[in-house]
Amino acid sequence: MPLYEYQCSKCEDKKEAVQSIKDEPLKICEKSDCGGDLKKLISLGGFELKGSGWAKDLYSKKP
Ligand SMILES: [Zn+2]
Repeated sequence: MPLYEYQCSKCEDKKEAVQSIKDEPLKICEKSDCGGDLKKLISLGGFELKGSGWAKDLYSKKP
């Protein structure tokens, strides 16, 4: 299951959630006194897997 990271645009609180792709993304901050919009951050775990080729390219360009 992919790990998603969200950050509240209001209180800047970060939250990690393990969700299926089919699950609805989280949208509202869970803090009852906040209720701000959550924005989805790029999942570090997923990015690492997908970006392995890209990272290798980048590395090879270094002197
Ligand atoms: Zn919040």
